[in-house]
Amino acid sequence: MRAARLAVDHEPDAEKAFFVADLSYVYRQHQRFKCFLPEVEPFYAVKCNPDPYVLRLLAGLGANFDCASNGEIANVLSTGVVEPSRVIFANPCKAASHLKQAARAGVDLMTFDNADELHKVARVHPKARLVLRILTDDSKALCRLGLKFGAPLASVPGLLAMAHELGLNVVGISFHVGSGCYDPSAYSDAIARARAAFDMGRVAGYQFHFLDVGGGFEDHTFENTAAILRDAIDMHFPDRSGLRIIAEPGRYYVSRAFSLATNIIARRAAADDVEAVATNISASAAGGEEQPSVMYYINDGVYGAFNCILFDHQVVQPYVLALSGSFHVPSDVAGDVRVSSVWGPTCDSIDCVCPTARLPAALQVGDWLAFDNMGAYTVCAASQFNGFTLSQVVYTTGGGAGAVETRRVLQSVAVQVAGTDQPTA
Ligand SMILES: *Cc1c(COP(=O)(O)O)cnc(C)c1O
Repeated sequence: MRAARLAVDHEPDAEKAFFVADLSYVYRQHQRFKCFLPEVEPFYAVKCNPDPYVLRLLAGLGANFDCASNGEIANVLSTGVVEPSRVIFANPCKAASHLKQAARAGVDLMTFDNADELHKVARVHPKARLVLRILTDDSKALCRLGLKFGAPLASVPGLLAMAHELGLNVVGISFHVGSGCYDPSAYSDAIARARAAFDMGRVAGYQFHFLDVGGGFEDHTFENTAAILRDAIDMHFPDRSGLRIIAEPGRYYVSRAFSLATNIIARRAAADDVEAVATNISASAAGGEEQPSVMYYINDGVYGAFNCILFDHQVVQPYVLALSGSFHVPSDVAGDVRVSSVWGPTCDSIDCVCPTARLPAALQVGDWLAFDNMGAYTVCAASQFNGFTLSQVVYTTGGGAGAVETRRVLQSVAVQVAGTDQPTA
């Protein structure tokens, strides 16, 4: 509201796009995870959104962390409240310098999936506790990871024999069904393969006691996925005393916690608006493709937060946040809709946020559009191409369930970390 007011007064930069992060949503996701997967320890995948308050909150809640680089490890440890034993270095292909840095930092739990990595670890970090990442079926995921990572089961005996020969400590098995997994049965297949790999471990002379079920969890299928995962664990690991089970959820924790508010900085409408609307109506009446008659340009795009459209295969839909300075869009205005397209601010024509959206005809330059579910794989991969700055985050703990607890956890973390600011409630 303040941003809208300042923008109307032409305050410099007052129209800047910004995220709103509801940290109590992250809190509730953590409770939900613990409730439905009580035997599984979450290691939050930092790459998904390394927001400092998300990291602090999760650290305070007792979650652990999945890091893929020494930059991420340094980031997590710099919160000042996370011990190196709470980190898994879950990148199967690490630079030797990052391995050495991990050894120095005291991070010794890490994944591998190939022979060269074993030689590297033997040379640079021989005391590491290694987790073998196996290949699973990732065909039912938004972002497939098996093209790049994961040892096929057929290569597992050879890799474990080599690890044993090198005197390395392999403690267990990991997998990742792919990010944005929309078929929860992928987890039961993966657990079956992990079981087979555990048995291969015994043959190679290891007693595995660590199972990492990776990421891929989705908000809207979580309960179902968790049930399938629990059943598969029961079936394939019936006797699991001494077995430590972890997961590496990323998207699940943050996707819905962040929304993005953007300002309409420019608009291009057909010369004759009335005619354009008429064309739209006849096109839709004829069942044909509706062509946008208005183009809106907003101040974040695919080179910024909306990189998720290109890299993470997301489809986003805007809604009207503020129209003519008001947050309440009268229904008669909202009823007069126009097929529109929404574009980012850069000079590149690939910078299209939404090719078709039904938006009120009254929408003008200066009005605000918002987008939900903008917490995962957005801020972290945004660039400043064309000189546009990154959208900043405004924090809230919301007014809903978990708000009080969220503030309490953040305060207790802040007490441990001297001299840091608190998010505004
Ligand atoms: C990206 C990644 C994750 C997180 O995946 P989500 O789909 O966001 O849950 C977890 N583990 C590894 C190894 C990853 O690369």
